[in-house]
Amino acid sequence: MTATTLIDRTPASTDSPPGESLIGLARPALAERLAELGVPERQHRMRVSQLWGWMYVRGAAGFETMTDVAKELRGRLAERFTLARPAIVSEQVSVDGTRKWLLRLDDGKEVETVYIPEEDRGTLCISSQVGCTLNCTFCHTGTQALVRNLTAGEIIGQIMLARDRIGDWPGASPDDPTGLPNSERKITNVVLMGMGEPLYNFDSLREACAVAADGDGLSISKRRITLSTSGIVPEIPRWGEEAGTMLAISLHAVHDELRDVLVPINKKWPIAELLEACRNYPGLSNAKRITFEYVMLKDVNDSIDDAKALVRLLAKIPAKINLIPFNPWPGAPYECSDWEQIEKFAEVVNRAGYASPVRSPRGRDIMAACGQLKSASHKQRASERLTAPA
Ligand code: SAH
Ligand code: SF4
Repeated sequence: MTATTLIDRTPASTDSPPGESLIGLARPALAERLAELGVPERQHRMRVSQLWGWMYVRGAAGFETMTDVAKELRGRLAERFTLARPAIVSEQVSVDGTRKWLLRLDDGKEVETVYIPEEDRGTLCISSQVGCTLNCTFCHTGTQALVRNLTAGEIIGQIMLARDRIGDWPGASPDDPTGLPNSERKITNVVLMGMGEPLYNFDSLREACAVAADGDGLSISKRRITLSTSGIVPEIPRWGEEAGTMLAISLHAVHDELRDVLVPINKKWPIAELLEACRNYPGLSNAKRITFEYVMLKDVNDSIDDAKALVRLLAKIPAKINLIPFNPWPGAPYECSDWEQIEKFAEVVNRAGYASPVRSPRGRDIMAACGQLKSASHKQRASERLTAPA
C-alpha cells in the first residue's frame, strides 16, 4: 500500500466566497454581527444559540440549512457573512490512516493540519502560526520564517474542516440536536502541536479554546486539549489560569548546555525556570499531569545517563514522558536514535514508573509526523514578515 493524495489543487483566489466567515467568533461577537443586520437585541440570545448549534453541533456550511431561522434573516446573513473554512490545497492519507491537509488562508499563506486515528481515540494536531520564529535545530517548521499568527477563526476552522472531511458531525439531523455522545466522535482530542509556538499566539488561541470547549458546541473538553510549548515561561501560568488546557513541554535535553542548542529559547528561560513554572501550573495533579516531550537524537541526547537525569529532573512533578523518535526531513542535521538505544532509554524511564512512553511516528510517508510540517510560505520576503513578541 502507498500513501494517497485525495486532493491536489491550487485554489483560485475566488475559492472562499466574499464576506466575513463567522467561524471562530465567540457568542458576544456573533451577537454584534446580528446587531449589524438589525436583529433586535431581545432576540440576540436565541439567535446566537441557534447559529451556535448549526455551526458547531451540526457543522452547517451555509445558512440555507438553518430551518429554524426565519428565511428572511437567513438571506440577510448570507449576503454579509459566510461559514467558510480555510481552503484545502491538498489532502494526503498515509498508509497508517493519518491524514494531512495543506490549507490555504484568505491571504494566501499556508498551514498544515494532521489527523491521527488510533484505536481508542482520534487526535487532531492543529497549527497556531504560519511557520515559527523559534529555531529549534531539529525541527523542520523552525527553518521556515514566521509569516504570521493565525486568527481564532483559522484555528477553529481547522477543526471544522477536519470534521467535514472525515465525516465527524454527529447528530447532524434536526431531529437529534444533541449530537452523538463523545464516545462516538472521531476527533476526541486536539493537540496544539502543529506549526508554530502557541504561546506566542496567546489571545487567539485562548479564544479558540473557549469556542472548542463550549459544551453546547464543538464540545472538546479542555482536558482533551493539549498545548505544547517550547518553554515561553512567563506565559505558562497565565495560560493555565486563563485557558486551563493540558500542557506539554518540549524538553528534549536535561542540561542547559545542550538545550541551549536544541531549543535556543532556553537561553532566555533555562530548564530550572521552566520546571518551576511547571510545578506551579494551575490545576496540576496526578490526574492532570504535564507531558514532557523528548525527541530521540542519535548520540546527542539519548545516553543512559541522560535517561537517568531525565527521571531525576522530573521526580517531583506529576508528569508523563513522551519519547519521540526523531522524524527526519531533507537536510536535517540529526539522525534518529537506534531502536535498541530508544528501548534502553525507555527502560530506565519505565523503571521510574512512567508507562509506555515511546510515541510511534505516524504519517511519516506523507511528512505529517512531528516536526516535519513546513508549508511553502517561507518564500515570503523578510520585509513582509511579522515578528512575534519575545
Ligand atoms: N512549537 C511547539 C509545538 C509544535 S512542535 C513546541 O515546540 O512544543 C510539536 C512537537 O514536535 C514538539 O515537542 C517538537 O519539539 C517536536 N518536534 C519538532 N521537530 C521534530 C522532529 N523532526 N522529530 C520529532 N519531533 C519533533
Ligand atoms: Fe517552533 Fe516548536 Fe519547531 Fe521549536 S519545535 S521551531 S518552537 S514549532
